[in-house]
This record gives sequence, structure tokens and C-alpha cells, in this order.
Amino acid sequence: MKLDTSSPRSLGPLPEVGPLAFGHWRFVGHDVRTATHLIETALDLGMNLIDTADVYGLDWGGEGFGDAESLLGSVLAASPELRERMVLASKGGIMPGIPYDSSRRYLTEALDSSLTRLSVDRIDLYQIHRPDMFTHPEDLAATLTEFLDAGKVAAVGVSNFTPSQTAALVSYLGDSVVSTQPQFSVNHLEPLRDGTLDQAMQLGLRPLAWSALAGGALATGHNIRTELMLEIDALAARENVDRTAIALAFVLAHPTRPIAILGSQKPERLRAAIDALSVSFTRTDVYTLIEASEGEALP
Ligand code: NAP
Repeated sequence: MKLDTSSPRSLGPLPEVGPLAFGHWRFVGHDVRTATHLIETALDLGMNLIDTADVYGLDWGGEGFGDAESLLGSVLAASPELRERMVLASKGGIMPGIPYDSSRRYLTEALDSSLTRLSVDRIDLYQIHRPDMFTHPEDLAATLTEFLDAGKVAAVGVSNFTPSQTAALVSYLGDSVVSTQPQFSVNHLEPLRDGTLDQAMQLGLRPLAWSALAGGALATGHNIRTELMLEIDALAARENVDRTAIALAFVLAHPTRPIAILGSQKPERLRAAIDALSVSFTRTDVYTLIEASEGEALP
């Protein structure tokens, strides 16, 4: 039986989004015209979830914190109609040198700074980028409730949380938590086995898969098991699509109906990714990919 890769995704109270999202980790160094074209391309393709973070733009020299949000803010200031077409997701809670802070004082300043940089009065999905293990989840829930009550955010999510960290926050915040953002690809299968995706189904959280192409490695094959690339290429030939469509379809086929966040900054690669939605996968296909990725026959 064919596995569904193409249906729209709900995100709690937010408008439905497409199964592919446009990520902004690498959304730096563009002029506003190029940046606008990229966002228009993504939106036209149905990639209406835009995933950024306050820390995106930071370079190895420690400069650039906030730059990806500021660039998106410049685009929105010049073309305000684009705001209505997107579900805007951002993240806070990482500050190099601390490195994680989810205290009320820190996050309140971080959120206000994000809103200013983005030139918006509301972030649709505000995600805690990495868990701060030295903030009690009850305190974090109180902070996020303040953000929701003030209308500064419409829904909240977590990223890189263990299932138990997510459960602790949800125990205080309930269904205001609508998403979880793990690293997940056919080359990085931990969420399938560590409880992250099971919990997402149990609690109704939408997984947002980051580095769904393993940072581009699943396109080039660099540092990927040869057996996995051979299986990907065989399926790509059968489905008449490229490798990246097969890798993305693997993520999309999971019953949590994940959203795969694309990192490419090339319009033609965003366009090509749409082929993932027409891939026809069976269970045998996905288990063959898992075996090739893990290098072990499944029992
Ligand atoms: P990705 O889609 O796995 O990788 C994107 C990279 O792959 C880009 O450098 C892109 O280069 C390259 N690429 C894509 N297609 C290619 C092809 N056909 N041939 C060669 N190279 C190709 O995603 P990612 O950028 O690592 O992450 C995606 C998003 O996930 C980020 O933007 C961010 O929103 C989110 N993220 C979240 C976290 C977190 O902690 N929550 C961490 C990392 C990322 P080009 O630009 O040249 O196409």
C-alpha cells in the first residue's frame, strides 16, 4: 500500500501548512531582492512554513546573531503582503557563550528582539531551540503562557528536546505545544527509535524535521553509506525523480506526517523538492532504506 507523503499539515491553531518548509539557517548574505525571490518561490510552491531562529546568521567569528531574522524582516518591510501568506516560525533560547537560557528574563528579551528584527508583532510558532536543563519546565511554561496571552506568539514548539523533556513541558503547558523539531533524515534515524516520533503521535505534536537532506550529504553522497546511496538511487530511477526527492519522501512518509524543512538557498532546488510529494513508497521501500542506512538486516 502506498504511504502518504503529500497531505497538508495541521499545526494546532495555525493555518495548515505544506509538507515541505523553507528553512533559514543558511538564509544569509542575500540582497533583499534575492531574499524576496527565494521566499516568493517557496510560498508559490506551497512551502508556507518559514522556519528561522534568532541565532541564524551567527558565523564562526561570533558575529551575525540575528542576521537571518533581520533579512526576513527587511523582506517583510518591503513586501508586507508576504506576511499573510506564511506561517512564521522562529526560535530562541540559544546564546553562544551561555549557551542555553530559557529563563523568563532572557526569553522575554529574546522574543522582543526577534519581533523587532522580523518587523512583525506576532510570531506564529515560537520554538525553544534547545532545552535549558537549568530552567524548571513549570517556569518555562509560565513564560510561554505570558507570550501566548500577550498575543506575541500564537503557538509554541520545542526543538532538540528529549521525549521526557517535552513531556515535562507539556505537563504544564498542555496543547499549546504543537510541534517538536528533531534532526531526522534517512541518514539520521534516532527519532524513529528514541521515542520522539512515538510521543509526537501520542501527544499530537507535529514533527518538523531539520537537515532532512543531512545538510546536503544525501544529495552528494558524501560521508553517506554506499549501500544507502545505492538504494536511494534505485528508488530514484524507479520513481523518475532525483535523490533528494527520495530522501525527503522517506521523512514525509512517517505516520506523524512530519514537515521536512529544506535548507537549500537555490530556487531551482526548492522547485525540484516538490517531486518528493509524488513519490510512491511502500513499506518495503522504507524498510529497505532503513536497513541500508543502519547496515543491519531488520529482524
Ligand atoms: P538540508 O536541506 O539537509 O541541507 C541544505 C544544504 O544542502 C544546503 O547547503 C544546500 O545547498 C545543500 N543541498 C541541497 N540540495 C542539494 C543538492 N541537490 N546538491 C547539493 N547540495 C544540496 O537542510 P539544513 O540546511 O541542514 O537544515 C534545514 C533547516 O532546518 C534549516 O534552515 C533550519 O530551518 C532547520 N534547522 C534546525 C536546527 C535545530 O537545531 N532546530 C538545526 C539545523 C537546521 P544550496 O543552498 O547550495 O542548495
